[in-house]
Amino acid sequence: MQFKALREQVVEANLELVRRGLVVYTFGNASGISRADGLVFIKPSGVPFEELKPETLVVTDLNGRIVEGSLRPSSDLPTHVKLYREFAQIGGIVHTHSSYATSWAQAGLEIPCFGTTHADYFYGPIPVTEAMERCDIESAYEENTGGVIVKRFRDLDPVHMPVVLVRGHGPFCWGDSPLKAAQNAVLLEEVAKLAYRTLTLNASAAGISTALLDKHFLRKHGPGAYYGQPKPVR
Ligand SMILES: [Zn+2]
Repeated sequence: MQFKALREQVVEANLELVRRGLVVYTFGNASGISRADGLVFIKPSGVPFEELKPETLVVTDLNGRIVEGSLRPSSDLPTHVKLYREFAQIGGIVHTHSSYATSWAQAGLEIPCFGTTHADYFYGPIPVTEAMERCDIESAYEENTGGVIVKRFRDLDPVHMPVVLVRGHGPFCWGDSPLKAAQNAVLLEEVAKLAYRTLTLNASAAGISTALLDKHFLRKHGPGAYYGQPKPVR
C-alpha cells in the first residue's frame, strides 16, 4: 500500500513532537487519515521515535481494524479513530503528555485566554473534559477517552478549537493534516506555559475581551481572514 506523502507526513509529525520537546521516551503519538479511503496511519506502539519509518506505520480502518502493518498500533488508536469518526473535518491527530498542558489537565482546569498569542490560534479557553466514570475506564478505556472529548465538544467547533485537555491525563490535538495537528500541540504547550506564568505573576489576571479575541482569531481564520499572504488561486 502506497500513500507515500501521507506516511511521510505522519512520521514528520511524530518527529516534530520530539524536536519540540513535547515527548519523553515513547509517550505520545501522531496519526493521519486518508478521508477518501477511510484509512488511518498511526505510530506503532512502543517504537522509539528515532526508529520510526514511513513503512512501519500501522494502517487501520475507521473502526481500528488493522489493514496493514506487522506491529501493534499505538494503544491510543481507539481514541484517534473515535475522533476521526466524529470530527469529519480533521485530517491529523496528535497526543502528548507535554509538561505545561498536562499540568493544566491534571489540575482539572481549562486554560483561560489571557492574551493574543492564545487568541491567534484557539478561539476561547482551552476546554478540559469531565472526569471519566469507573465503568468507562474499566472497559473500552481508549475509545471512551474519545467519548469524553466528543461530549465536551457538544457546543464547540473542533475547527475553531483544535485542542482539548483530557482531565487527569493530557492533551489531544488535531488539525486538517498531521503536521497541522503537531503544530497545534506545540502552540498549545506554549499557550499553557504562558498562562501558567501569567497566573504566577498575577493570580487574579483576567482573560482578554471578546473584542480582542475575535479580532485576533478571526483575522487568521474563517471567511474574513486577512492575516498573512492570500492563498494562490489554482
Ligand atoms: Zn496518554
